[in-house]
Amino acid sequence: MSSLDDFASAELARLDTGALRRRLATTDRGEGAFADRNGRRLVSFSCNDYLGLSHHPRVIAAAQEAAARHGTGAGASRLVTGNHQVLEVLEARLAAHKGTEAALVFGSGYLANLGIVPALVGPRDLILIDALGHSCLFAGARVSGSEVVRFRHNDVSHLAEELSARRAKHKRALILTERVFSMDGDRAPLDAILDIAGLHDAWTLVDDAHGLGVVEAGCRAPLEMGTLSKTLGSYGGYLCASRAVIDLMTSRARSFVYTTGLPPASAAAALAALDIVEAEPERADRPLMLARRLTERLGLPKAESPIVPIHVGEASAALALSAALEARGFLVVAIRPPTVPAGTARLRVALSAAHSEAQVDALAEAIVELR
Ligand SMILES: *Cc1c(COP(=O)(O)O)cnc(C)c1O
Repeated sequence: MSSLDDFASAELARLDTGALRRRLATTDRGEGAFADRNGRRLVSFSCNDYLGLSHHPRVIAAAQEAAARHGTGAGASRLVTGNHQVLEVLEARLAAHKGTEAALVFGSGYLANLGIVPALVGPRDLILIDALGHSCLFAGARVSGSEVVRFRHNDVSHLAEELSARRAKHKRALILTERVFSMDGDRAPLDAILDIAGLHDAWTLVDDAHGLGVVEAGCRAPLEMGTLSKTLGSYGGYLCASRAVIDLMTSRARSFVYTTGLPPASAAAALAALDIVEAEPERADRPLMLARRLTERLGLPKAESPIVPIHVGEASAALALSAALEARGFLVVAIRPPTVPAGTARLRVALSAAHSEAQVDALAEAIVELR
């Protein structure tokens, strides 16, 4: 064997020892929160398609029509020939939805954070990031070369302490957090964070990947990024901010400049989904209502979002519980380190408007029996 394959095999063996190896499973997601795997139909509680819009007939039709009229790919970077009009219409609608002057659509949420952060801060600057922030926030922070300080999850006094101790030594400061935390489902104390940010002339970026369309309450940060691939059922990322910030990103965010524009069909699908989010507000209440039904049945703290973590601890135990649920017809994927801190492996249950009350109750019953 070559040293390359030796290396890969040794690393895989190490992952196996800790039950941390990841494997792909062929999955066919259908309408109504179903997912087919290994020839079986499962009720999926692992999709971020919170309103079921990825299978909505109007969203599908918008994508089909856009692909038929404009082709399947954007053809080039948006700064070359990839800036289709539907992207601009989508940006105007996202900005209006968030109440900002402007918006910019990126290739994905991950790419957005990878580009936004280094376009705003550099080696002389300071980044304060919630310890449970998403991997792509950390990736953007690392690429920036700034001093990166983690503050304890949702701990505003720790954030204030770190800012008081370090802010004066840096030119600019940027706080990175999430509206709804992706693996815990709790919400950031944004009012308090924005107050502290104001006191120290720090900027705040909120990752709203799991909030848009399902948890909209609360204040807005000057930098609101998110994804088109969760509630909006499509693919892509965005930043909503002032005109000046968006114009700067258009020139400076490398993950915007040096990558191909989003396909028109993805933008058209997101636009149709945003129409539905805005026209049918009652749809948005359902995932949180079902999440609260589940936490009540399980005796857990009241859900703050459609995401409910079922804490297990060890990675191997999380895999075992996930497999036992799959045997009963439920798809609830185990979340293991390094996605979450060591010793906090869990099942992450994501509720959708497409679930029925009976499906949620059946899942609760199965979890109670198996734990
Ligand atoms: C999913 C997610 C992203 C990445 O978005 P993609 O469009 O899937 O790349 C970013 N931040 C958070 C918090 C997420 O959960």
